[in-house]
Amino acid sequence: APATKRTLFKDVESTFVMIKPIPRSAHGKIITFIMNKGFRIVKIRNGKISKDFAMELYSNLGGNKNLPVIVDYITSDEVLGLELAGPRAVQAFRECLGATDPADAAPGTLRALFGENVLRNVAHGVSTPADAAKMIDKFFGVENGNPKIPYRATFEDCTC
Ligand code: GDP
Repeated sequence: APATKRTLFKDVESTFVMIKPIPRSAHGKIITFIMNKGFRIVKIRNGKISKDFAMELYSNLGGNKNLPVIVDYITSDEVLGLELAGPRAVQAFRECLGATDPADAAPGTLRALFGENVLRNVAHGVSTPADAAKMIDKFFGVENGNPKIPYRATFEDCTC
């Protein structure tokens, strides 16, 4: 077996990832993929993001004519936010995600494996450590004792 390269904790960075609205029963295989790639989960939380949050997440899409459709989808149901840690985690996760359109994504990437189409492409991953810090605070932050991001208003019964 190839030798495993180990990186000291001090050289690790965090990234922010959001699993988009997909059936929650599909979360497990995506988390398994993430763990198999070597990332550590630092934080994980369900939440329903606002349109303002979505606009900030996609501030790079200013001129995109599909922005309303993209924002509608990402705010249509609960998402799952993750803070992941690892060596060069921001870039490494983007590589694991694959190209925006699952049809163009390299084999073995998250979007190639599980993406449906360019809109329903499984997950978001920030592009810079600065965006990671900003979105981690916005997603996991607490204000006046309450989480900034609410849970979806309705819950299913938990049954065994
Ligand atoms: P990403 O960084 O790979 O997620 O891509 P972008 O930042 O360019 O776009 C953000 C998200 O908007 C993508 O993940 C897609 O889901 C969506 N998106 C981008 N381009 C298109 C498009 O042409 N049509 C549709 N329907 N969605 C798009």
